Amino acid sequence: MAAQIIDGKQVAADMRAELKDEVARLKEKGIVPGLGVVLVGEDPASKSYVTAKERTCEEIGIHSDDNRLPAEASQKDLMALVEKMNKDPKINGILVQLPLPKHLNEAEVLLAIDPAKDVDGFHPMNVGKMVVDEKAFLSCTPHGVIQLLIRSGVKIEGAEVVIVGRSNIVGKPLANMLIQKNPTGNATVTVCHTRTKDLAAHTKRADILIAAAGRPNTITADMVKEGVVVIDVGVNRVEDATKKRGYRLVGDVDFEAVKEKASFITPVPGGVGPMTITMLLYNTVESAKRAAGLAPGE
Ligand code: NAP
Repeated sequence: MAAQIIDGKQVAADMRAELKDEVARLKEKGIVPGLGVVLVGEDPASKSYVTAKERTCEEIGIHSDDNRLPAEASQKDLMALVEKMNKDPKINGILVQLPLPKHLNEAEVLLAIDPAKDVDGFHPMNVGKMVVDEKAFLSCTPHGVIQLLIRSGVKIEGAEVVIVGRSNIVGKPLANMLIQKNPTGNATVTVCHTRTKDLAAHTKRADILIAAAGRPNTITADMVKEGVVVIDVGVNRVEDATKKRGYRLVGDVDFEAVKEKASFITPVPGGVGPMTITMLLYNTVESAKRAAGLAPGE
């Protein structure tokens, strides 16, 4: 039986509608969540991400403070900007678009962001809190994956989850979130990487398989069991002469073949991608509520 396609665009739209309502309620209390965005240089992919983030802020009613620095900006200029936003009470979340130009020290910049405004969830303070299951900003892509599972009615508790990829932004935080002793965790998690001896032996055991390798066709139909839930985080460009831009986007999973065995599967594009920005704005709203001393749900 063909899988049910998890429509990330729809789940993200539902969450954005919820956020819009919440922002309207906060405005009645005089609270306007604000996101400070920093883009250094002219990288086209980064520019389009930042534009999408700013557009979505506007749609939800979040104040967006846009800052553009030239590609040759110094570390000092960038650190000064982060410091200014750290002190600005109108800004609840700070987003420095990565990657930064090579001459800039990314780690130093991320460390300079006030952890209370680190809505990307990359600051070691937030990563550490997440690991020990304390209240923290959860990093956006892994949190988006968990929301997709929950909102599709997939049971995480007790599931065998196999994650392919161990990066600091996807695989590692996701594994940590899924093993937490809480209602959105309680899974048994295996993390695979390029030194894993027999990848298929692991992926075949998965009730939930999450691919975050950044390589097309890393997961083929012979590597999964019937009824598996597949979340494809990968975004890869493959040449396609039929497209105007000369390429198309694919995930890490052989979607057409795997969907015939899976119970649920995310497409690329239109799966995990739309969730990442949504979770960033979710964190920004949470941050504004915390700054105003409101509890979740207030
Ligand atoms: P990354 O830093 O390159 O990490 C890739 C991970 O996959 C590494 O741990 C690597 O193992 C592992 N890996 C690569 N090939 C493998 C293979 N054949 N077998 C087993 N493991 C393999 O990438 P990332 O930043 O985590 O991103 C992963 C993918 O997700 C990319 O396509 C990226 O564009 C996409 N992504 C999408 C979103 C979104 O919003 N949709 C957000 C973030 C990332 P080693 O550690 O051994 O090298």
